[in-house]
Amino acid sequence: MRVLVTGSAGFIGHALSRRLLSERHSVTGFDAFSDYYDVGLKRARHADLAGFPSFEGVEARLETPGALLDTLARVQPEIVVHLAAQAGVRYSIENPGAYVEANIVGTANLLEAVRAHPVRHLLLASTSSAYGGGATSPFREIDRAVTPVSFYAATKLATEAMAHSYAHLFGVPTTALRFFTVYGPWGRPDMALFLFTRKILAGQPIEVFSGGTAERDFTYIDDLVEGLVRLMDCVPPKPSEGGPVGESDTLSPVAPYRLVNIGGGRPVQLGRMIDVLEEALGRSAERIPMPLPPGDVTATRASTELLQALIGTVPETPIETGIPAFVRWYRDFYPTDAASIATPAR
Ligand code: NAD
Repeated sequence: MRVLVTGSAGFIGHALSRRLLSERHSVTGFDAFSDYYDVGLKRARHADLAGFPSFEGVEARLETPGALLDTLARVQPEIVVHLAAQAGVRYSIENPGAYVEANIVGTANLLEAVRAHPVRHLLLASTSSAYGGGATSPFREIDRAVTPVSFYAATKLATEAMAHSYAHLFGVPTTALRFFTVYGPWGRPDMALFLFTRKILAGQPIEVFSGGTAERDFTYIDDLVEGLVRLMDCVPPKPSEGGPVGESDTLSPVAPYRLVNIGGGRPVQLGRMIDVLEEALGRSAERIPMPLPPGDVTATRASTELLQALIGTVPETPIETGIPAFVRWYRDFYPTDAASIATPAR
């Protein structure tokens, strides 16, 4: 199978590409190596993928006219997984333009390229943040009363709507995926687990939002990739091919479009996450309580009903297993000292 993965130098794109390549699929990875966080880490991820002969890297921006069109025309992929994006809740408050460019313009270009070169299945990344502040827990895909409270979430919700309209208008089977706080080896330096690890190892205090009571539905990277790989083969049916899979799978009665959570539905308090991290590091943290920043929500929890109905499994790795795996990778990747990491996190 030929797969185009945008965002292949990113945390999730690297893990997905690695899994596909190890199963002997061909992967074209499209990434601009944006400087939102340590570009050296992104280069290292692509260098890791370059060890597979069936990997090809394309360094280009989603927004560059013709870049995606040319890539799709040349590669003719059967599946496109669109992960490239400007991610991060807090950065979006000060830098909304970066989100309009990468997420709105970038996804519009991707949809146009797929329209010109249709694929068997288009999958694109959205986020649990799209549910926003007022959603009923657990967050269900069918809940249309979404109230995004960060600009990042607003742009991701817009990409879902754009993808839905293209699926409706042009018939490309499309699955939008709401990921829930993904973590694990090769993870993102701007996210709490990475930030805390670096600070604890450097002997610095950590800022703990909402006194550690905020809850996140942490999803281990291998579980997320398993879900993605299974969903790739789970193409949304056209109306003529049959009805919805489950109660939640009724967002679009006409388009071959589907919206699916990937999360385990078992949220963990931030304070508990830090306890497990301290144990894995063998060091305790100096915790500074801070209020929840604007744009963040107090709790996330995925409804797993639709994911279970579609692929027969849901993320299950507990943080007691996943966090030590992250710490092992971190110690291996940054052997000298956490303080030597040059790029400031945002
Ligand atoms: P990441 O930042 O590690 O990866 C994104 C990649 O996209 C980066 O390598 C970056 O260089 C690339 N990129 C950014 N802007 C680009 C542009 N304009 N053109 C080309 N490439 C560009 O993020 P990630 O954690 O791997 O997330 C992947 C996707 O999943 C994103 O769409 C993100 O919004 C979504 N998501 C992630 C999480 C999570 O917990 N990691 C949660 C919810 C949703």
